[in-house]
Amino acid sequence: MKQLLIVFTILFSFGIQAQTDQKIYDIIDAVSEERLRSDVKTLADFGTRHTLSDTLSETRGIGAARRWIKGQFETISKDCNDCLEVFYQKDLVEKGRNQRIVKDVMVVNVVAIQRGTTYPNRYIIMSGDIDSRVSDPTDFTSDSPGANDNATGMAGAIEAARVLSKYKFESSIIYLGLSGEEQGLFGGQGLAKYAKENNWDIIGVLNNDMIGNISGVDGVIDNRTFRIFSEAVTTDETDPEKLARQARGRRFYGGEVDGTSRQLARYIHKTTKTYMPEMNPMMVYRLDRFGRGGHHRPFNDAGFAGIRIMEAHENYTQQHQDIRTENGINYGDTFERVNFPYCKKLTAVNTITMASLASAPPSPKEVGIGGIVEPSAKLKWDKVEGAIGYKIYWRDTTSPTWDNSRYVADVTEFTLEGIVIDNFFFGVVAVGRDNHESVVVFPNKIMR
Ligand SMILES: [Zn+2]
Repeated sequence: MKQLLIVFTILFSFGIQAQTDQKIYDIIDAVSEERLRSDVKTLADFGTRHTLSDTLSETRGIGAARRWIKGQFETISKDCNDCLEVFYQKDLVEKGRNQRIVKDVMVVNVVAIQRGTTYPNRYIIMSGDIDSRVSDPTDFTSDSPGANDNATGMAGAIEAARVLSKYKFESSIIYLGLSGEEQGLFGGQGLAKYAKENNWDIIGVLNNDMIGNISGVDGVIDNRTFRIFSEAVTTDETDPEKLARQARGRRFYGGEVDGTSRQLARYIHKTTKTYMPEMNPMMVYRLDRFGRGGHHRPFNDAGFAGIRIMEAHENYTQQHQDIRTENGINYGDTFERVNFPYCKKLTAVNTITMASLASAPPSPKEVGIGGIVEPSAKLKWDKVEGAIGYKIYWRDTTSPTWDNSRYVADVTEFTLEGIVIDNFFFGVVAVGRDNHESVVVFPNKIMR
């Protein structure tokens, strides 16, 4: 009986405590539907933003679009004492790299960095895409408003900069416009390479691609649900030895569904549930839609955590389509079809995630776990500079979310009595001021 009581005490005292920070609610409210509407309109009105389109005109083509985007970031920066570092990052992609590159093109990304006060070289990144396309991916002259795909993601990143630049954060935030997405993810590749060369410590990439459609081709109309796509494990594909070692380890110790991108997805899910409970975040356990791609992938390929945030119900008559009417159906990705209250909500999901992560200390780097043939699980981790405490999370092996937690103050190891290691997965976060937490780290060391 006594033992039973102990088990019960443990089970019920470790509930999820949702501690909140008022600043995060303010950051939700500050996102403006009107500014998103106006920016998506402006982007759609460049006629086409195809990666291979005109770069000289001031009113049409991707050149005009990217100059306008850069100008927006510069204006935002003026309003916050030059708090943004705004620049172009570009790479030449030569004709014939793939079938969609029918001439040499400079793929130009727009980068705006809000420098962190404590961890200037740690970055949480929100990206949208500058470019658009119609039915033929090499058609760079026809009207291609790309209102939902992906002026919504781009406008979201600009709006996030307007909102978050009013605050100071410990880590850096990057607002990013990527090009060359529709031609083969070239902008993301270029920026991921640039990040590696400059030794950026990337917390994660929130790739926003189509965040404004609520009326799906499946007939469902839904302004609450959105998808978070994440691959199971993210590893540096350029290091085959490490890949093989990690795969071997997962077989015996778990981690098949616990890579860094997946932890980032769970973080967004939890932050949304805490601060925007009216929303319905839907984690999808795949890299992206079935057989389709997005700009988080090149970051994943380079070993960085990255996920895709997206509407739940797509409408294919409004993606990658020539503007036309056929059999009574209006095709085309036009401005009127974007739902801005929903776009505002999904933008807010990004701003609260970035504000939380940029307010949190870094995750512990090394997390060890032990407890083989013992009635308890033991966790041990590196001390994190700036952390005021740590939280151990665990969950049933079949659960998608970190359902149980235990806060511990300033220690670097802890034993969960009565918790048998075999029956759960575990992770550790660092906790900072106002209870902001780092992303969960799945154990990467076994203690015997
Ligand atoms: Zn697209």
